[in-house]
Amino acid sequence: MSDFDAIVIGAGNAGLSAAATLQRAGARTLLVERHNVPGGCATSFRRGRYEFEVALHQLSGVGLEGQAFSLRGLFDSLGVGDKLEFVQEHDLYRFKVPGQVDVTLPADRAAAIETLEEAFPGNRSRVEKFLDLVSNVTILQIAAMRGTSPEQIDPVLFRYGLRPSKDVLDEHFDDPGLKAALGVYWTYLGQPPSKLAFQDLALTLFAYLEFKPWHIRGGSQAMSTAILDSFLAAGGQVRFNTAVSAILTEGGQVLGVRLDDGAEVIAPDVVSNASLPITYGMLENMDVPAAVRDDLATRRIGVSGFALHMGLDATPAELGFTTSTTFVNLDTDDDRIHASWHSLEPARGVCVSSYDVAPIGFAPAGATHVSLVTLQYAHAWDGVPPSDYHRAKFAYAQTLLDVVEHVAPGIRDAIEEVDVATPRTMARYLGHPGGAIYGYDQDRTEGWLFRDSERRPHVPGLHLAGSWAGMGGFQPTLEAGARVARRLMRRKESVR
Ligand SMILES: Cc1cc2nc3c(=O)[nH]c(=O)nc-3n(C[C@H](O)[C@H](O)[C@H](O)COP(=O)(O)OP(=O)(O)OC[C@H]3O[C@@H](n4cnc5c(N)ncnc54)[C@H](O)[C@@H]3O)c2cc1C
Repeated sequence: MSDFDAIVIGAGNAGLSAAATLQRAGARTLLVERHNVPGGCATSFRRGRYEFEVALHQLSGVGLEGQAFSLRGLFDSLGVGDKLEFVQEHDLYRFKVPGQVDVTLPADRAAAIETLEEAFPGNRSRVEKFLDLVSNVTILQIAAMRGTSPEQIDPVLFRYGLRPSKDVLDEHFDDPGLKAALGVYWTYLGQPPSKLAFQDLALTLFAYLEFKPWHIRGGSQAMSTAILDSFLAAGGQVRFNTAVSAILTEGGQVLGVRLDDGAEVIAPDVVSNASLPITYGMLENMDVPAAVRDDLATRRIGVSGFALHMGLDATPAELGFTTSTTFVNLDTDDDRIHASWHSLEPARGVCVSSYDVAPIGFAPAGATHVSLVTLQYAHAWDGVPPSDYHRAKFAYAQTLLDVVEHVAPGIRDAIEEVDVATPRTMARYLGHPGGAIYGYDQDRTEGWLFRDSERRPHVPGLHLAGSWAGMGGFQPTLEAGARVARRLMRRKESVR
């Protein structure tokens, strides 16, 4: 007799949405998390007078009340729709290249076109054409993902979807500043426009422009905690400070898990939110299937991040922050910026989140919580011995502050609290190889067209959900967990 109907390994976004979906659908579910809080990346922590948001810079897909296909429907189905307070960012971002570009894009198509025309006169019709293409490619891509047959899909998707974003930007525009301003979301996805599939850039831009960028009052931790509470209220059980150390199998079929205290828990289905290498490495009593070995051998561990979480004793206006999100890049050479993520050379581009332009409630009155992030591969830290780690991370942090001085001169004088996270920090807290925050490198060889980690499980009873099995980021992983859980429930129903 099974102890549970399902066990979920990891309480990141996908683990939480999977667990809540399963339990609310009537499957007796155990959620096991190695950390002491729910959320994975989607957490917060406290220093002095400040709470610090770990990961959420802009939540995509929330949409305005009543907007179809928005994430609000998912939150309702998880039982947390009325527990979360969303804080809207009215601008997509301010984008600054010192001495070259300084433009603030409103989160509204018509206003964004107007702003870009003012900043880059004579480009109105090109911008309109480009944004039309962004919408078309995204809508067609979603139709294709949902199973519309290729014959029924407008060929514009096949002409543009997999082209490098840089080609498509070059086809539409001449001005390097305008191309950089419209393409800067590449820094969220981890691949420069020369490598990033246009359909991925289009999806990201569309998601924020159409459904607006959002923060959550109380940070992403409020969301993670609310989903956990919903899971518990439905009768689910959770174990924190507990890692799964083995996935037990019998006759090539999942039997349950072993926890790091040695206890064995029996269940016919296991959903893993852990990385794929760790998940398959935990299989006991069977070899990793050849198809999985072949697949994993061709994949590259993706990018991690370097973050400065700061409590600043000044208001956003006093500091110079006019938008919740600001990208500052030293030039428009995106390949050069991406190359810098492989080493500890000074940061060349930083994403700034100022959480008190539209306050999320983490800083005291008159103060500001700001985080500075640049993506970075873990191997940049390979040559740094433990004895030099502390010095090296603060030295590198100074280079992010140097970049941000271009929008907030004198920011250093306002620092009251600061905490620095490197790829090693991410690896320690998430347990992922390379501290990767989006799973594998999100280039054109990855994605739903070429990889089937999530859709076609290779071990009966083992289900994969999260950034390592699909696309990284908040919206994709929240949706993935619920989707995988629904698929699992349908399978259970069909064998009954
Ligand atoms: C600094 C930073 C900034 C980011 N900015 C953004 C942003 O602005 N927008 C955006 O969309 N995304 C952003 N992301 C990425 C986004 O947060 C992640 O892609 C997403 O949250 C990953 O969710 P996940 O479901 O894959 O789980 P993860 O968050 O990766 O969590 C996995 C969980 O599994 C647990 N686990 C692993 N192994 C085991 C085991 N053996 N036993 C038990 N538990 C285990 C881990 O402890 C962890 O809690 C950012 C991330 C970071 C770190």
